[in-house]
Amino acid sequence: MKISLIVAKAENNVIGKDNQLIWRLSSDLKLFKKYTTGHHIIMGRKTYESMGKPLPNRTSIVISRNKDFEVPEGHFLAHSLEEAIQLGISRNLDQVFIIGGAQIYKEAIQFCDEMIITEVQAAPEGDAFFPEFDRKAWKIVHSEHFPKDDKNEYDFNFMIYKRIN
Ligand code: NDP
Repeated sequence: MKISLIVAKAENNVIGKDNQLIWRLSSDLKLFKKYTTGHHIIMGRKTYESMGKPLPNRTSIVISRNKDFEVPEGHFLAHSLEEAIQLGISRNLDQVFIIGGAQIYKEAIQFCDEMIITEVQAAPEGDAFFPEFDRKAWKIVHSEHFPKDDKNEYDFNFMIYKRIN
């Protein structure tokens, strides 16, 4: 099973503030939708709660230490990232997407085959960060520039990194 991580991060690695996203990037949301639709998406409990409900046309696997946390029918609760990944394997999935947040990304980089990173050309204030990673362990296989416009607050680069070894 291929394990992909998908994130939008700023130049200072900020990914969120007060449990919210901090930018309006319509083209990035479209890319997120294009890549994840039809798939299982793994996320931390805080990211799940910040969305309020499962995203349409995707199966959520929510990670929480709380054994009683409730997710709607057709979605899943896991108590560790390993358990979430095992769930994907046991369901014979071809691919899963790890969609955040900061705590989950920190653990997830070691497990990922691919990182889909929207590199937002801004350095806003925030309280949730994407971790630094060893760039030598990854190669860029796709790079595309999106200029800012009335629906996209900042310029961004849409990048795909593949693990080298
Ligand atoms: P997370 O979404 O990573 O969720 C954290 C929670 O996940 C913990 O409180 C815990 O839940 C559970 N958890 C984490 N690690 C483990 C573990 N090893 N075992 C079991 N459960 C675990 O929260 P963050 O605060 O780190 O990130 C949220 C922020 O990230 C928000 O600002 C959000 O908007 C942003 N974000 C940004 C994205 C982007 O692409 N820019 C994408 C996704 C989120 P519990 O407390 O219930 O036990």
